Amino acid sequence: MEEAVKIALESGFSHAGPLDCSTIELKEEVRKLCEVNTCQQYGTNWACPPACGSLEKCTEDIRQYKEGIIVQTTAELEDSLDFEGMQQLGIDHEENFKRATEALREKYPDMLILGTGGCNICKECTYPDNPCRFPDKKVSSMEAYGMIVNDVCKANNIPYYYGSNTLTYVGCFLLKKL
Ligand code: SF4
Repeated sequence: MEEAVKIALESGFSHAGPLDCSTIELKEEVRKLCEVNTCQQYGTNWACPPACGSLEKCTEDIRQYKEGIIVQTTAELEDSLDFEGMQQLGIDHEENFKRATEALREKYPDMLILGTGGCNICKECTYPDNPCRFPDKKVSSMEAYGMIVNDVCKANNIPYYYGSNTLTYVGCFLLKKL
């Protein structure tokens, strides 16, 4: 995964490291949190629950892969109320994702990408009236698949916390199939 990590760092991510897909655990409790809908994405697009499929279906998706990478974009915020900084971090993370996706897709056309938040590939999602416009490109979040992000990082020896007044967005690319 050395080359993939290099591509991720060149794409702008602050940190990246190898992911052993066998360490990923999907939890029903995380899916239950989606239903609370704090992020207001639940039931609004094809990449979030319930449309992204049952935990069993997500498990089947994940279990096809052996290796991947975890990617992170970290920002230093002025304080815990620095909403502008948080918004900018979201934009930067998205841009890093786009660059890395483009570069990695050439080498790994069957990769599974799990990002942060709901899918925002289209200006307006077709959900629920029409099928997804880009089923091969739509991006679910790690949480939508039932992952505790901190646990996945920890299991792969990648820090998640980089000090007070920092915020880190995390995603992963599942690259090599079994
Ligand atoms: S690719 Fe477009 S239609 Fe499909 S889930 Fe994403 S936003 Fe919705």
